[in-house]
Amino acid sequence: MNELEKLAELLLPEINKTPQYYEELYPARNLSENARVVRIAPSPTGYLHLGTLFAALINRITATVSGGVFFTRIEDTDKKREVEGGIENIIGGLKQFGIQIDEGYISGTEEKGNYGPYKQSLRAEIYKTYVKELIKQGLAYPCFCTPEELDAVRSQQEQNKERTGYHGKYAKHRNITFAEAEALIKDGKEFVIRLRSPGCEENRITFEDGIKGKIEMPENDEDFVLLKSDGIPTYHFAHAIDDHLMRTTHVIRGDEWISSVPKHLQLFKILGFKPPKFAHVAPIMKLENGAKRKISKRKDPEAAVHFFAEQGFEGEIVLEYLMTIAASDFEDWRRANPDASYKDFKFNLKKMSVSGALFDENKLLDVSKNRISRLKSGEVYEKLTAWAKQFDAQFYNILTANPEYTVKMLGIDRDNSAKPRKDLAKWAEAKDYFAYFYNELFTPCYTLPENINKADAANFLQEYIKVYDPQDDRMAWFEKIKSIAPGLNFAADTKEYKANPQDYKGHAGDLSTVLRIAVTGRRNTPDLCSIMQVLGKEECENRINAAISEYRR
Ligand code: GLU
Repeated sequence: MNELEKLAELLLPEINKTPQYYEELYPARNLSENARVVRIAPSPTGYLHLGTLFAALINRITATVSGGVFFTRIEDTDKKREVEGGIENIIGGLKQFGIQIDEGYISGTEEKGNYGPYKQSLRAEIYKTYVKELIKQGLAYPCFCTPEELDAVRSQQEQNKERTGYHGKYAKHRNITFAEAEALIKDGKEFVIRLRSPGCEENRITFEDGIKGKIEMPENDEDFVLLKSDGIPTYHFAHAIDDHLMRTTHVIRGDEWISSVPKHLQLFKILGFKPPKFAHVAPIMKLENGAKRKISKRKDPEAAVHFFAEQGFEGEIVLEYLMTIAASDFEDWRRANPDASYKDFKFNLKKMSVSGALFDENKLLDVSKNRISRLKSGEVYEKLTAWAKQFDAQFYNILTANPEYTVKMLGIDRDNSAKPRKDLAKWAEAKDYFAYFYNELFTPCYTLPENINKADAANFLQEYIKVYDPQDDRMAWFEKIKSIAPGLNFAADTKEYKANPQDYKGHAGDLSTVLRIAVTGRRNTPDLCSIMQVLGKEECENRINAAISEYRR
């Protein structure tokens, strides 16, 4: 055994496998040449965040359009920040949004696929095997510096206005001998394993980022940590090993990692791995007082994805919206393909925003209204009640007490309409929006438009109730209102009213507003004739009579 082999044995005596073993255990994937193997690698430190959902969507669709694989890997190397149920929060959240996971963690506890384990804490032996090999090759070494020593070096570097970090003359243990290491270990000293970087700061490296294009940076010359003192790898090292052995072809991740690419490319090179293609996604931004800023977990409720679920945004619609900010050509495609699933869109990373897409809740509401307007009443019933079941039990009970009634109500201006009404954007609005259909929720409001007095309103309703027939279609329904108008000195015809407004108190449209207020308590509603058909004769008469007494008081 030479010195380096002895050092490797000293530091990692428990490791007896070789990299070759893992290379064979995880062979190249049997996929077509263009297929992209992509992943998200979340840390289970809390809820599913919008940024993770966005990254998952982009990765998922990249895999889909190329006939590739999308997998999840859990990066749980920071045990201090891990929260209970963290994996379930993230994976369950993705599933709720309809993001299909081909491989890796598919629930809080289960994984599938041939390239696992898909959780980093279960991969310690693999990382150590590769580190041991690097030590043997003189490409990694133990460093016994204490945090205090490292801090002191940093302060000195700052004082000297030098680049901070463990590099060049500051890499204290770079040339440690076997005997020195052995003595320190015998003394019970803790150590980390560092890379012996072959790089030089003067050299430049370039790479082609899948989103940002060509990027040039100084080569890495820092002897950064590969394994921490507890044997757990750093992100950099785990990324190189995992994405190589899991045969990732494209690493599409947040652009906070872009400055680390020189480290990563160096690792791939010295490990003898073919590097993946990198694509760095800019964070989702928000406009605040005219300035763009990153969406913040602390300030913005929508940063945590369960906000959308609570508000009753359909998962698929949120993804549809995210597609509009992910791809500049998505909306044109949508106009040309109004009925297709967003999953059929031919996504291309090059069409992504380089500087950060803007999250705009109004736009989301718009996209959502459009999508919901295309659903039939039965589908709306399913989705609305599923939401209410989870978030509003009282409303759920009301909606489901008479499903047929609720479906009929949801069909108004929708099922047989060439231009369905674009009203609801999220289920949390539905209770208020539909309140007047349910006596438990209906609160009358009898305030009249300014040009109509109570006596006229009462007289009109009194006449109307005499001729009201729940069988009337829209035409007949409005004809009846028109037929009452002249007797009250209202114009039957709006044009006629507009030509000679001084001759009338108002027109038939004003009278239909009186009826609308009596029946629904509102001035704006979907088609009133249909509403009255759904409410039924008895209920309409009760409400009209109640309004008459109110106006006669
Ligand atoms: N755990 C890393 C993060 O959450 C993963 C980055 C990556 O996709 O490689 O930022």
